Amino acid sequence: MRLLVVEDEERLAAALQRGLQGEGFAVDVALTGPAGLDLARHGSYDAVILDVMLPGLSGYRVVRALRAESNWVPVLMLSAKDGEYDQADGLDVGADDYLTKPFSYVVLLARLRALLRRGAPRRPAVLTAGDLSLDPARRRVTRAGVEIVLTSREFALLEYLMRRPGEVVSKIELLDHVWDAAVDTAPNVVEVYVGYLRRKVGRERLETVRGAGYRLVAEPA
Ligand code: CA
Repeated sequence: MRLLVVEDEERLAAALQRGLQGEGFAVDVALTGPAGLDLARHGSYDAVILDVMLPGLSGYRVVRALRAESNWVPVLMLSAKDGEYDQADGLDVGADDYLTKPFSYVVLLARLRALLRRGAPRRPAVLTAGDLSLDPARRRVTRAGVEIVLTSREFALLEYLMRRPGEVVSKIELLDHVWDAAVDTAPNVVEVYVGYLRRKVGRERLETVRGAGYRLVAEPA
């Protein structure tokens, strides 16, 4: 079993590496967010232990980037107590389990073994686009970890666009898939709802492509 530890506190990283190697794991260590993301992308790991507060790129951004690439490697997140974030945030962005620092090594090992037993699930994907995250199963949308309340129609519209990231989706297609035929389809209903959605998720996220339709922008310039 190969593990990746992403932790910028060098002594903790080294202690985890030694301890886990003692349990028979192969353990790589990254000390920054970007280095961790790079290794997680290209290495073949059975699990990743990921600190939240990291230089360069937070643990949240690392796990979000991996999930956006459909990389489902099990992730156990570590975070300082009373941090800026809470457990729900970690799980929202796609972590599998979460441990608050300071933690007991025995507990870490137990949680890690549980994760490894479960393996990488084929989960109902949480859709992400940049800092936007939409969980179809839980009907929940967040931006940068902050929940955005949407009506069911706004949710459906956003979900449809998030399933087609970077693509231009025509008004006709949106009408077909998001609105029931011939029910509430005033001619400008798509524009109206795109307007509502822009106010909630950010104007720059929903680009109008003149004469063609709309495009969801993952990372606005
Ligand atoms: Ca840290």
